[in-house]
Amino acid sequence: MIYESTRDINRKLNPSEAILQGLSEEGGLFVLRDLGKNKLNLEKLIGKSYYEVAEAVLRLFVDFSDEEIKKCVEEAYRGKFSHENITPLVGLKDSYVLELFNGPTSAFKDVGLSLLPQLTKTALTKVEDKNDILILTATSGDTGKAALEGFKDVDRTKIMVFYPNDGVSTVQKTQMQTQEGKNTKVCAIHGNFDDAQSGIKELFVDEEFKKELLSKNIKLSSANSINIGRLIPQVVYYVVSYLDLVNTNKIKLNDKVNFVVPTGNFGNILAGYYAEQIGLPVNKLICASNNNNVLYDFLTTGVYDKNRDFLKTVSPSMDILISSNLERLLYYISGCDNAYIAKLMKDLKETGRFEVTGEVLDKIKDKFQAGFADDEQTKETIKAIYEKDNYLLDTHTAVAYKVLLDNLDNEHASIVLSTASPYKFTESVYSSLFETQGEDEFTLMNKLHEQTKVVIPENLRDLDKKEIRHKDVINKEDMKKYILEKLGDL
Ligand SMILES: *Cc1c(COP(=O)(O)O)cnc(C)c1O
Repeated sequence: MIYESTRDINRKLNPSEAILQGLSEEGGLFVLRDLGKNKLNLEKLIGKSYYEVAEAVLRLFVDFSDEEIKKCVEEAYRGKFSHENITPLVGLKDSYVLELFNGPTSAFKDVGLSLLPQLTKTALTKVEDKNDILILTATSGDTGKAALEGFKDVDRTKIMVFYPNDGVSTVQKTQMQTQEGKNTKVCAIHGNFDDAQSGIKELFVDEEFKKELLSKNIKLSSANSINIGRLIPQVVYYVVSYLDLVNTNKIKLNDKVNFVVPTGNFGNILAGYYAEQIGLPVNKLICASNNNNVLYDFLTTGVYDKNRDFLKTVSPSMDILISSNLERLLYYISGCDNAYIAKLMKDLKETGRFEVTGEVLDKIKDKFQAGFADDEQTKETIKAIYEKDNYLLDTHTAVAYKVLLDNLDNEHASIVLSTASPYKFTESVYSSLFETQGEDEFTLMNKLHEQTKVVIPENLRDLDKKEIRHKDVINKEDMKKYILEKLGDL
């Protein structure tokens, strides 16, 4: 089982090395060339638990022993999620909602980031590397907290998280600023998410910086969804939700279903494509964007162009103009043509734009559909679904739900991926339903609970009473200096 860089066929690593390294040296992402050669046996998985399905999926992506895989999955999820099925499926009138937010930080990123540290820990033992791992992460709000929780006090790892100072919600910021753990550091930057992500990406290809770290016995890795160890766990819930529908006789085995995915960095929806490649019967993967609809434009025209204003929306975790994981899809769609991908990514870097061939676009359209919703539509959808189904959507899930409503399909069941608890974005959710009088997020959290009776997740309940431990704010140019300075604290 060998991973290679999307941009260079000669850069090959085994699964452990790919997980530990995160990103290829020249900037490419690690991919399995023969993805889909081995398929899941879906029939055998009917009626199995989340854990068992996860083990079956993981066996297709890592060369760990069955015992190691089982241990990783157990330690990642057992007792850590508030629902015993990990990702329960809820039936509404027009669709099914796949709740991915029952983990320790109430966002879907917990699913990937609970397992990644276990995969990292196991990978370290397999490559017999004596260095410790430093996880560097840029976040639009949810990844950061989920990564911090996942790696908190995990042996031989340290983690530093950078977030845009004005680009995350109050709850998200408070979650990160109150982070505990002796190996954690959190810092805000003046800039947006793309600035933070580009800054981190540059450090990953900065040889001098890496040499300096190595002299302190530290190697870099990433918890962003560019890390394959983060992506693989996300494949699991696509399979689990499908099997759920089979199990409850909503569909027959081999019936195709649609998945509607609120999308930012293209990690979540790419995991759906991986699920399809390993044998899941998928009709369409529907990519839902907010007003930063660079992906909608790309999936409908074949032109990716990030030269546009970066807009702040009520779904901030999707405020992204460079969707890193699209590169992996382009690699597969182009027939694993590394040179072609290297050229597209060079265009993107130099001009902020690339255009794929008509043939590539047609192949993408075979599997993908796209739509987007603005803030007003998002808030209207929260209200409409609350009134129609008595179900409370968060803003990101509402973007997806609006796109579903625009693309209703009577032939196939549709599953909407719900990526956050409504309480993570309380102000926007509350004001979609009720009048506000300038109350703070934490007051609104309690009011939202009083009005709707939806339970507040435990990790958010007393957040405002926790001690603020991380207050640093820096310019985006100073990330490297900051890291080298602060490393000694961890
Ligand atoms: C990260 C995130 C997304 C976007 O997921 P990608 O994998 O980056 O496409 C959507 N919704 C929420 C709540 C998120 O945290």
